[in-house]
Amino acid sequence: MGLSEDRSAAAARSDQTGLSVTVLGCSGSYAGPGGACSGYLLDDGTSKVWVDAGPGTLANLQRHVGFDEVDAIVLSHEHPDHWSDLEGWQVVWRYRLQREGFPVYAPASVRGHTYAPDSPAFAWHDVTGGDTVTIGAMRFTFSRTDHGPETLAMRVDAGGRSLGYSADTGPAWSLEALGPGLDLALCEATMTIEEEGTLQHLSARQAGLSARAAGAGRLVLTHLWATLDPEQSRAEASVAFGAPVEVATVGARYEL
Ligand SMILES: [Zn+2]
Ligand SMILES: [Zn+2]
Repeated sequence: MGLSEDRSAAAARSDQTGLSVTVLGCSGSYAGPGGACSGYLLDDGTSKVWVDAGPGTLANLQRHVGFDEVDAIVLSHEHPDHWSDLEGWQVVWRYRLQREGFPVYAPASVRGHTYAPDSPAFAWHDVTGGDTVTIGAMRFTFSRTDHGPETLAMRVDAGGRSLGYSADTGPAWSLEALGPGLDLALCEATMTIEEEGTLQHLSARQAGLSARAAGAGRLVLTHLWATLDPEQSRAEASVAFGAPVEVATVGARYEL
């Protein structure tokens, strides 16, 4: 690569103010055919953070970045559809890259579920509701949701933009808890309207209401069960949100 190409690449990076979200997986609870569970790659132009590491997300991560480009992992909760590819990442980091101390931010309960909780591959950082953590230039603020185990939704502020991610939640928690000014809300929409109240999850309708209450600029639905019709979920959420809504797909990239 010549000097001018170096300069243009650097200029492109410095021009990139803001935040992007690439979907590594978005199936709810278990992966649909050819799919992957929850995982998102956040990129503010200087740092890359992998949020949730559900089954299939490590495979998809490799379509977007090199292993050594990932700065940290943030995990929302102990349900394996949100972290089980951390096991593969432990092998990558310790035996393929032969490194130690990769930063993992998670509720304290997650570590004990892993195969090698004392592996030197990882530097674990316990986080809980109300905590704020800075990774590179991204600021994460956590909020405990309405879900079985300790589950942390998160607001991510970077480059003057703000992302809200619900993680898993029931309707007793709202995206409003992440504060005003969310440019994009990535909200779980696990169930059908008929199933509302049967589990600590949301329907697309409830996701739409939550994002509307929070005043989010955009709403992207995620964590849909593979049995749902995404078009129906999109339509129900759009009515509740009061504006068109998108449904996450593997590989989709959202620029905030
Ligand atoms: Zn889940
Ligand atoms: Zn869960």
